[in-house]
Amino acid sequence: MFEKVLIANRGEIALRIHRACREMGIKTVAVHSTVDAAAMNVRLADETVCIGPPAARDSYLNVAAILSAATITAADAIHPGLGFLSENADFAATVEEHGFTFIGPSPEHIRLMGNKLAAKQAVRNLGIPTVPGSQGAVRDVAAAEAAARAIGYPVLIKATAGGGGRGMKIAHDGTELARMLPLAQREAASFFRSGEVYLERHLDRPRHIEVQILADGRGEVVHLGERDCSLQRSHQKVLEETPSPALSRKQSERLGSLAAAALRELGYRSTGTLEFLYQDGEFFFIEMNTRLQVEHPITEMVSGIDIVREQIRIAAGAPLGYRQADISLCGHAIECRINAENPDTFAPCPGRVSEYHAPGGPGVRVDSALYQGYEVPPFYDSLISKLIVYGKTRNECLMRLPRALEEYVIGGIETTIPLHQRLAAAGEFIDGDYDIHWLERFARDRT
Ligand code: ADP
Repeated sequence: MFEKVLIANRGEIALRIHRACREMGIKTVAVHSTVDAAAMNVRLADETVCIGPPAARDSYLNVAAILSAATITAADAIHPGLGFLSENADFAATVEEHGFTFIGPSPEHIRLMGNKLAAKQAVRNLGIPTVPGSQGAVRDVAAAEAAARAIGYPVLIKATAGGGGRGMKIAHDGTELARMLPLAQREAASFFRSGEVYLERHLDRPRHIEVQILADGRGEVVHLGERDCSLQRSHQKVLEETPSPALSRKQSERLGSLAAAALRELGYRSTGTLEFLYQDGEFFFIEMNTRLQVEHPITEMVSGIDIVREQIRIAAGAPLGYRQADISLCGHAIECRINAENPDTFAPCPGRVSEYHAPGGPGVRVDSALYQGYEVPPFYDSLISKLIVYGKTRNECLMRLPRALEEYVIGGIETTIPLHQRLAAAGEFIDGDYDIHWLERFARDRT
């Protein structure tokens, strides 16, 4: 097992990884930007190295600085967390070339799944249905129009190298497509360093359902059930739950086995998530994330498996040591992503946390690096906390959620807690009757 792991990330996820390392008896190195010097994950780490100024490109994306930090602290392995360099195949390869272990999949699998068209093709070859779309990239308006006619309007223009829900554009007809295509290509080029885009049929009322996979790279691949992440704003997840209220146990098991079989065939190693859209009883693969997901805790709650610990064990070469039949998923869990944002306009609201009290009691877990006096910096993602609630049944979980939200005090800054409180009381949410577009309307009706 590793003796020392460098955590190349910040905030709650860096703290989450630190916690797993601590419980495994592994020493941690926190790298941080100047503005994060007093962050909780930095305070708790065994060693710390400042790797640059606040801007992410100069610190958390600064590969040379991160490798230097790993060298001077003699770390064995680097955990990339999520976001930042976590899905950068070149980074994973460079880490390995420098003699450190990258805690994640092989660079080849990161590269394959990082190209969304190649990923769709690869899983299609493994028998998984994908959203109908253009065969390859669409380079000009004529090619796009021909593809769109075959797919059927409305279509979604997506970046091949896309991520984070950014840059997708919908076109309802040829005129709109001709207008949107160059815009989408330009945006893709500036967000993702590749202007390549492709088309997909825009599904009008799907749910987003994803499957959590663990694979040891020695032939053992298991799934830990699905997560329903349909409650989204601007294609970004707001609240997730497991199991999905829309699936029967049989459907869930079928989807899980299909996903696990595909990744076994691919020879995948590490944690990973296959994302699907689900509509009218059919599943369509959209993409795979080759990393830890923000919403992994809800799966941990119902499976009793520490996903970060498993990811570290697998990277160290350990076998999974259990099979699908050994896994039992039990109960229900919900995660609320709490952002430092105005709950109505979603404008970011960084600043000093003047007062802090986290909820507790039965079935409540808080993954957050916040503390009283902490200054939320304006430079990074606005996610500041994840409130995770567990219940033996969905009903118990729904009873627990509002009381946990009510207990949560974060003073001095605006947060999205009030949005989650409204959501927790909404009939459609309680009934489990929502698709990926529902929350957008629900949030808008308020303003
Ligand atoms: P990203 O990698 O940017 O997160 P995804 O392909 O995972 O992009 O899609 C993010 C979200 O966008 C999905 O969860 C879903 O809400 C929406 N979306 C993606 N593809 C489609 C589609 N073909 N039709 C309707 N909505 C879609």
